[in-house]
Amino acid sequence: MNTAKEGVISEIERYAIKDGPGIRTVVFLKGCPLTCRWCANPETQKSIYQLMYWPNRCIGCRQCISECSTSALSFGKDGVKINRSGCVSCGACTQACNSQALTMAGQCKTVDNIMTIIVKDLPYYQTSGGGVTFSGGEAASQGDFLCELAKECKKHRISTCIETCGYAKWETYQKLLPFIDYFFYDLKILDEKEHIKYTGVSNRLILDNFSRLITAKANVTVRIPVIPGINNTQKNMDETIRFLLKTAPGCSVSLLPYHQLGTSKYDKLDMEYTLADLVPPSEQEMLRLKEQFENSGFPVRIGE
Ligand code: SF4
Ligand code: SF4
Repeated sequence: MNTAKEGVISEIERYAIKDGPGIRTVVFLKGCPLTCRWCANPETQKSIYQLMYWPNRCIGCRQCISECSTSALSFGKDGVKINRSGCVSCGACTQACNSQALTMAGQCKTVDNIMTIIVKDLPYYQTSGGGVTFSGGEAASQGDFLCELAKECKKHRISTCIETCGYAKWETYQKLLPFIDYFFYDLKILDEKEHIKYTGVSNRLILDNFSRLITAKANVTVRIPVIPGINNTQKNMDETIRFLLKTAPGCSVSLLPYHQLGTSKYDKLDMEYTLADLVPPSEQEMLRLKEQFENSGFPVRIGE
């Protein structure tokens, strides 16, 4: 269900300190139009609920198998096997599993449900200069719901921030503008063909929305995930700097080194991770890129 009043989230993380200023509550909304190969949150890519299997928690009791009304589960030498095409995401098996070896990525929540959690940490936001960050997935892919959430936050004078891939209708960003204080905006690859190859979509809409947000005087920080061998090439960094000099000279830039923290989730979702051999960039490489952007007049942070 995805309406203005109800949306699908994967989780809510409290006391986050790397997703905008101060101490923040991060709401992860499900659904993303991109399929970046390095995605650290694969459970947020699809807007539907998805069953995850954690074999190290499984005690082999097989309670889940008998609970499944569509016979989508079987038990073999590697533990529980999920027939994804047979699973209707009813969640009965997750209720039956006392070991939490089966969990559901995806919960339907109302604006009120989420606000009840958000307002619990009002004192932390006030003392730290923090607030709420909408992440994903692509939070803007549930634009109406996100807008209602952001509006509610503003009624409580809570600072709001969105981490966005930039791939949503301009009208969605336009609607969000009065209610979002900070935009953390991903620029991944400037070459359109390469962008399609590694993320599944063209970057034209992303670059266009970026320019429009800057023109609308939004508070934008550019986030560049540094993926070795994919976008840390001289060509891509030069093109990114040229684009930023033209559209947003002097804007804040965050360089985010590639990491492998989300890779174990791919197995749990029966998804393939194609960058298993990729090594994160060295500190020297990150400092080299930082210097390159700084030399072009951009204030740069690494890792946040
Ligand atoms: S109910 Fe849980 S612990 Fe038991 S077999 Fe199923 S997944 Fe494993
Ligand atoms: S979520 Fe429902 S349909 Fe899917 S495997 Fe579990 S019990 Fe079966």
